[in-house]
Amino acid sequence: MSNVLFWRGALLLSSLCALLLACQGDTTGTPKSAQGTPTTAAGAQGNTPATQTTISANAKMGAQLKLDDPQDFEDATRGLIAAPPSLQIVGPGNSTVWDMPAFDFVKGEAPDTVNPSLWRQATLNNNYGLYKVTDGVYQLRGFDISNMSLVEGQTGWIVVDPLTTKETAAAAIAFAREHLGDKPVSAIVFTHSHIDHFGGVLSVLGAGENTEIVAPVGFMEEATSENVIAGTTMSRRSMYMYGSQLERSPRGHIDSGLGKGPALGSPGIAAPTRTITTTGETLTLDGVDFIFQNAPGSEAPAELTFYLPQHKAFCGAEVVSRNMHNLYTLRGAQVRDARKWSGYINEAMGLFPDTEVYFASHHWPMWGNAAIMEFLKKQRDGYRFIHDQTLRLAAQGYTPKEIAEQLEMPASLRSSFPNRGYYGTLKHNAKAVYQRYFGWYDGNPANLDPLPPTEAAQRYVAMMGGADVILDKAQADFDKGEYRWVAELLNHLVFAQPHNSAAKSLLAQTYDQLAYQAESGPWRDVYLTGALELRQGAPEKGLGIANAGDLIKATPLDQFFELMAVMLNGPKAEGKTFALNIEFTDLQEVHVLQLENSVLHHRTGQADAAADATIRITRPLFFMMLTGEAGIRDILFSDDVSVEGSKLDLLGFFALLDRPNETFNIVTP
Ligand SMILES: [Zn+2]
Repeated sequence: MSNVLFWRGALLLSSLCALLLACQGDTTGTPKSAQGTPTTAAGAQGNTPATQTTISANAKMGAQLKLDDPQDFEDATRGLIAAPPSLQIVGPGNSTVWDMPAFDFVKGEAPDTVNPSLWRQATLNNNYGLYKVTDGVYQLRGFDISNMSLVEGQTGWIVVDPLTTKETAAAAIAFAREHLGDKPVSAIVFTHSHIDHFGGVLSVLGAGENTEIVAPVGFMEEATSENVIAGTTMSRRSMYMYGSQLERSPRGHIDSGLGKGPALGSPGIAAPTRTITTTGETLTLDGVDFIFQNAPGSEAPAELTFYLPQHKAFCGAEVVSRNMHNLYTLRGAQVRDARKWSGYINEAMGLFPDTEVYFASHHWPMWGNAAIMEFLKKQRDGYRFIHDQTLRLAAQGYTPKEIAEQLEMPASLRSSFPNRGYYGTLKHNAKAVYQRYFGWYDGNPANLDPLPPTEAAQRYVAMMGGADVILDKAQADFDKGEYRWVAELLNHLVFAQPHNSAAKSLLAQTYDQLAYQAESGPWRDVYLTGALELRQGAPEKGLGIANAGDLIKATPLDQFFELMAVMLNGPKAEGKTFALNIEFTDLQEVHVLQLENSVLHHRTGQADAAADATIRITRPLFFMMLTGEAGIRDILFSDDVSVEGSKLDLLGFFALLDRPNETFNIVTP
């Protein structure tokens, strides 16, 4: 029985999790200590205090920056109309989906255990409420990782980016109505295909209204299909990137750079009624003129920016933001094109030179043409610099690690806070540029076919004289503050001897220090999550998306068949052939699966007359199978489904699909 239960929802749905960026259901593997519990400076998860080396490194970095520059703090609070006294948003099953009080400790001077530059960004991201950006333009910030912007139309609100989930969007729009008047939503604009910019749409879309929904070309396809087939891996890795298991504390998660962190709850989607395909396209929405810039393949595969000429306001979507963004995102994703990205920013400067107000999908606005143009120029040049200098150094023969190590932004860019690596970093973005052009192989034959980690580690450990010698040396280097080296050394020992608790403990302490020194929110969370899992092991449960039904319904069936293909266990399927018709009785749609050569092909159209089996099923029932609401054996043997051919053969076929491991080990073999 168990081998046919692979279908049971969590695993398949967790595969969608990357699509949801880093969504976490209310019953996920997040430990109790990570949410809704009081924060403790001591660190309930066993994190060690900052060492003198870390304290000095943080002080040195702090001294290089004008951390007390008041401009950002003025901008981040300017135009505040109202803020709820406490912003905790509750979702399904009374779970907390958004929790600003958990970050109340982020104020005042940076603690020893946080990079002071990241602390500054985290403090700025702690602001929340309803803000007036300019006459007729408002923002709800801090209700989610992203912003909901409201443009006042003749009859109602034009909502730009309705947040990640129903719950956060409902709280935000209700708060706006309370303070700005109870107006309907007259139109919606999705700036791009990432879930934190459309997932809450069902809460702002009035029932039965014919609301115009504007989105960039390719939106629906990208929003419902991006990364489904790679989802399990990405969702597991996103637990590291976003620190979903970490407590909120000075030794835990404090910020993601882009905002406090992903919102939980129930995401949905609605199809656009109007698609922007061309830069310069204009639209009048509820009496307000919009001029669009189509920017596909920038920060998202489908993305737009726009200008409101009546307000002289530029919405930069997520093409620009108040941090260095990711050319490569650490959860694992395809690399973005820095040259193209920079080009779009340059184009926007030319298209909208009269801009007096800037606002965007994350962070706080900016006012004044000169400041905005300077900001845009530096955003443009930040990405272009990384691109050009990486290729320059590659042409000198340097490989990714060497390039990342020596690259430094010019003083004019590194002194600019929006260019700093609070989210993406110069180091990992430079490696991303290398990867985009040259792939994973650095050209050195020693790296063409090296031994895998455990085998190499066992040989290193033996050659270095065994565990005790290594631990002594590692401790000495730790005491000298050489944390990057100690991490490399102890990683070998842990991979050779995964039960060596002294090795794991010292490696966890090493990751603590690397986390405390990190300026990037995701780097901090990656190191702290590594430390946590060295101390406690991998989580028992992966990320769940139990509440994502609305989004899953909108995901094309083809995506699920593609996912089935990557679940096929090649060795188990060796020598087997099977053809299966799946007829969706409610859709009048036939899908044919064909197994041969350990590959599962899928097509739609005519049923295969020679198929080994045919299932007639409704889409809802098919999804019940996928969501685990019913087991496949139960479905196949129920009256709601008709099956031609041998049911046992069918079960045997489904048993060839591997259950993805949602909690695979990362810091241990
Ligand atoms: Zn976003």
